[in-house]
Amino acid sequence: MPISHACIKSLVLDELKTALATKGLKPYRAAQVFDWIYKHGATTFDEMTNLSKAERTLLASTYSLVSPRILEQEASADGTEKYLLQLEDRQTIESVVIPDGKRLTLCISTQVGCKQGCRFCLTGRNGFRRNLAAYEIADQVTVVEKNISESGDGPAGEARPDGRRHIANIVLMGMGEPLANYDAVQRALTIITAPWGFGFSPRRVTLSTVGLVPEIRKLGRNGPRVNLAVSLNATTDRIRDGIMPVNKRHPLQELIAACKHYPLEPTRRITFEYVLLGGVNDSEEDALRLSTLLRGIPCKVNLIPFNPFPGSAFSRPEDGAVSAFQKVLRARNFTALVRESRGKDISAACGQLRSRLASLQSAK
Ligand code: SAH
Ligand code: SF4
Repeated sequence: MPISHACIKSLVLDELKTALATKGLKPYRAAQVFDWIYKHGATTFDEMTNLSKAERTLLASTYSLVSPRILEQEASADGTEKYLLQLEDRQTIESVVIPDGKRLTLCISTQVGCKQGCRFCLTGRNGFRRNLAAYEIADQVTVVEKNISESGDGPAGEARPDGRRHIANIVLMGMGEPLANYDAVQRALTIITAPWGFGFSPRRVTLSTVGLVPEIRKLGRNGPRVNLAVSLNATTDRIRDGIMPVNKRHPLQELIAACKHYPLEPTRRITFEYVLLGGVNDSEEDALRLSTLLRGIPCKVNLIPFNPFPGSAFSRPEDGAVSAFQKVLRARNFTALVRESRGKDISAACGQLRSRLASLQSAK
């Protein structure tokens, strides 16, 4: 459970308006408060100078306004930056910034650890601690934005015609399974996309899921209509059962049916992620089956050669296998890109920075 139940950033605008009204504050104060937090990165009520001293004191005695602390920051030769953030209860999470010129993609975590236990994933192997609260998910945007602007690149944000480095896209692809923390993630998506929040277009936000079918359907129904990425990673139930325990609850046909029904805006596509594990799921027959499974779904495929970590049971595929796999898909008119995990020279696999720090701490 998050410690700070009264963090003001847990609320959406309407809730804050109602809450402030019961304390005798005008509803427009709510928008001013969120403007300070999401547009100006305020971390104390005292900074909110268009509120009276009495109003600021009242807010400070009612709500907390905590932010995570940057515990470590690593920069990779390819430009990727990895942040290790510490939360109020000293749990740690990772956020990663992946540059594409001045446009940055921010990859954020949704849980401390993960319960899904995918066998090729370090986060999965290290187990589950707790869900993140909505504000802890959204705070990753604030902290990283602030850090970018303090590093001399000017403030981050959605549109930067002046060409400064800015966060252009957000992916929920860090630690944890977003749809296993549905309510907090949905609230965080609201904060990220609302005009009173960070104001990102839902087209610039992508949620990656292991394939929790009921929640995929629920997200499709209730929104926000962000882009969907699905970690498929196998083309038969036998192989998927063996590497992803979730497949026993929601087998491939059920997952593919949910993807077919996911309401996509025109021109949008589902992304299927496929981690290539040497000798496990990387044959041309797998590629052929994949093209059959995905037929008729507006989609693109990201092929991710397995990123090994100490003690992992899998190996990277041969380079030849990766290109042969891609060729089969392309010959069937699929968009198939090979996506190397970025930041290999730092802590390559997701969860690795965190577990390296944990082992350093336990060695102390
Ligand atoms: N839980 C969500 C989002 C986090 S995992 C999900 O599973 O989609 C993000 C992506 O990293 C997933 O596509 C997953 O398959 C991939 N991944 C996990 N471990 C990996 C590894 N060791 N090498 C390459 N990709 C990995
Ligand atoms: Fe969890 Fe995603 Fe890793 Fe699977 S791949 S264990 S769902 S973080």
